[in-house]
Amino acid sequence: PKVTAVDAAEKQKVWEADRDHFMHPWTDFSTFKESGSMVFTGADGVSIQDADGKRYLDGIGGLWCVNIGYGRKEIAEAVAEQICAIPYFSTFGHHTTPPAAKLAAKLAELAPGDLNHVFYGCGGSVANDTAVRLIHFYFNQLGKPTKKQIISRIDGYHGSTYMAMSITGVKFDHIGFDIDEQLVHHISCPNPYRRDPGLSEEEFCRQKVQELEDKILEIGPDNVAAFFAEPIMGAGGVIVPPKGYHKATLEVCRKYDVLYVSDEVVTAFGRLGHMFASEDEFEIVPDIITCAKGLTSGYLPLGATIFSDRIYEVVSKPQAEGAIFTHGFTYSGHPVSCAAALKNIEIIEREGICEHVKEVGAYFEARIRELGELDLVGDVRGRKFMICLENVANKETKELIDPAAKVGNRIADACQKRGLIVRPLAHMNILSPTLILTREDVDFVAETLRESIVEVTEGLRAEGYLAR
Ligand code: PLP
Repeated sequence: PKVTAVDAAEKQKVWEADRDHFMHPWTDFSTFKESGSMVFTGADGVSIQDADGKRYLDGIGGLWCVNIGYGRKEIAEAVAEQICAIPYFSTFGHHTTPPAAKLAAKLAELAPGDLNHVFYGCGGSVANDTAVRLIHFYFNQLGKPTKKQIISRIDGYHGSTYMAMSITGVKFDHIGFDIDEQLVHHISCPNPYRRDPGLSEEEFCRQKVQELEDKILEIGPDNVAAFFAEPIMGAGGVIVPPKGYHKATLEVCRKYDVLYVSDEVVTAFGRLGHMFASEDEFEIVPDIITCAKGLTSGYLPLGATIFSDRIYEVVSKPQAEGAIFTHGFTYSGHPVSCAAALKNIEIIEREGICEHVKEVGAYFEARIRELGELDLVGDVRGRKFMICLENVANKETKELIDPAAKVGNRIADACQKRGLIVRPLAHMNILSPTLILTREDVDFVAETLRESIVEVTEGLRAEGYLAR
């Protein structure tokens, strides 16, 4: 693999420029001001390299997105070719380019049911915002202007634009900010691990589904437009709802003419072994699927809102008072991003990456589940290459460790020291690697995590955070 180290002076220059001027997303600036950033200068296959040339297996796939792995020359070539042919032109109105058109057709082919129409943006948040505007426009055109309210779930994550963050239900993410509470309603999280002891999974599921129905009835079916849900809740802690939940919630939505938006920003393009997880993994055909991330494997920014024939028929009718679908971005259907996505999908299909995930992703899941035997690990959940470890002080009571211990960070640091990047999320650790890991890579991840967790456990015991 290529070595991409930079000299010490260059590294220092980058580090300072970054610390002083680049306001990073999702960052605690009280510590950032001191410690700045770790600088990465190269990547190849399943790994990234820091400015000193040290390699780390990337256990988080960039940010749940570099599905086909790093260093794919084919993507670079497709992108370069498109830039030389036509790097950009507006798609407003009746203009298009071949990659935008072909990708839309490809997504329509891959998406379940009659989800045959694609609106492009630059990422997942915007895909969800577009879904909201599309849904509002749809119900206005149908002559149901009161049908506007959105229901989503505590611990759901849907993005960082104002609307997507309002739909997001991770309470921590709302601290210090405002959200639109007039439009969005959160119901509780279907996390089986945190259910009342003594409640069966079936009963737990029934209660959660009932809660959705009760919320629709409370707001009034004539006022509720849509339910937003990730098939597996990623950034909220990789929560897999109980068996049957997806189908039952979709049925409730159908009963009250509430549109179901499946946020597949993380779960699509192979992460769970399918191009889309909604139908293939959870047996539902929603009205809208939003996606981004793995759509280009993170090589270029792109997001898509894929919606049904039924919605398209309504929004494409001649509009009252001359209104047209006044929604869109300069970069909607950006030809270079679309060219990267087409090549990315071609690679996923040609290399059988979904089949690989079904096999090696299942092995990954099994190996990480073994860590559930460690004293610190209360729950290992998720599927295939989307896994979370929830660390606890007491496995019986599921009591959490004092947040001051920063257990998630400690484990991430211990892994990093050993050449593995995992993501800390409060007291949890998240794994979402590239989808091309070999069994050997999987063994490295499992063994490194085990060693790191054992080391951190000993430290926490010594410091009195855990009973001895
Ligand atoms: N939806 C889900 C499920 C996500 O995980 C994310 C990002 O992590 C988003 C939406 C937002 O996507 P983006 O960061 O591309 O705007």
